Amino acid sequence: MEGADASASHKYAKELQVGVRVVQMACSLCQKLQKGSVGPSPDHVISKDDDSPVTVADWSVQAMISWMLSESFGRENVSIVAEEDAQTLSDDSATSLLASVVATVNETLAMAPRFGLKGPTKPLGGSEILDAINCCNSTGGPVGRHWVLDPVDGTLGFVRGDQYAVALALIENGQVVVGVLGCPNYSSKRKLVNNSSVRSDLWQEGCVMYTSKGSGQAWMQPLIQGHGSLEWPNSASVIRVSSIDNPVMATFCEPVEKTNSNHSYSAGIAHRVGLRKQPLRVYSMVKYAAIARGDAEIYMKFAKAGYKEKIWDHAAGVVIVEEAGGVVTDAGGRPLDFSKGVYLEGLDRGIVACSGVNLHEKIIGAVYASWDSSHL
Ligand SMILES: [Mg+2]
Repeated sequence: MEGADASASHKYAKELQVGVRVVQMACSLCQKLQKGSVGPSPDHVISKDDDSPVTVADWSVQAMISWMLSESFGRENVSIVAEEDAQTLSDDSATSLLASVVATVNETLAMAPRFGLKGPTKPLGGSEILDAINCCNSTGGPVGRHWVLDPVDGTLGFVRGDQYAVALALIENGQVVVGVLGCPNYSSKRKLVNNSSVRSDLWQEGCVMYTSKGSGQAWMQPLIQGHGSLEWPNSASVIRVSSIDNPVMATFCEPVEKTNSNHSYSAGIAHRVGLRKQPLRVYSMVKYAAIARGDAEIYMKFAKAGYKEKIWDHAAGVVIVEEAGGVVTDAGGRPLDFSKGVYLEGLDRGIVACSGVNLHEKIIGAVYASWDSSHL
């Protein structure tokens, strides 16, 4: 595609190319785990200190992407802010868990040439894999380049065979400049529908979306199938936000879980703005993907008091929606600030992503009008 060729000559061409390829590899890894063809059962879940789930997929993707980025750009040049650490995996009682991660990562790295990348000359050992996970301990900030990774966003969606995402972004001097979002259960050919149980024959039809800041375009590739290989950039097509700006016609997305998101407040805003459709409740950053692709027009998330949004849950999705023609701000209408470290510090009440300025202004207006009566 012409557009993808244009992006390949962009300032961030190499970062984008490597980023897309490692996310393709990560999606392949997750699909294999989900089908049970490698590793333990995908629903083998360990609870973290904050009660959120983590699986072999989370650690394996983080280790694999960390290793590949270091290999591609030089370990000394790579700073990664990522969700997982290897503390649980390093425990003496976690030997079989670590063995599963090691096997999964090595099986995926062995496929690197199919994705146009160079893997290790011999399989990595446990300590190298723990090291690859642990070196993703950057805290980001306003200066320099930092990769931002959520290895499996929406782990619960992954465990349930529903939507989840692999999210990789590059932040340069506080700005998100590259975003890559792998959506293994989001068919590149089918619209997202509510309460769908994902059929296993659609798994191969997932997609990877990507962009670089200022390119004015975002792209989507299907996941690499079976024994195929990645045709870069010819397999990509341009994606664009929806042109619907009438609230009556608009679809809005929100998180499935109520833990970190206030559904009743969103419902109130939806009512004020005149949205008629039931909310599309979707796990993970696939919500951003749905806006970028034009499957939905609005994504609203109002966090409960005390919850702090992390940069890896938003960076890739935000830049993809923006370059696809959409608008993303906090609920006060200000841009999200990715320069303050691991958290989106100073975030005003919540996050509003829209396909266009008209809907966005209406939502922000409704937030201001309704705030006093909310129960956040
Ligand atoms: Mg995660």
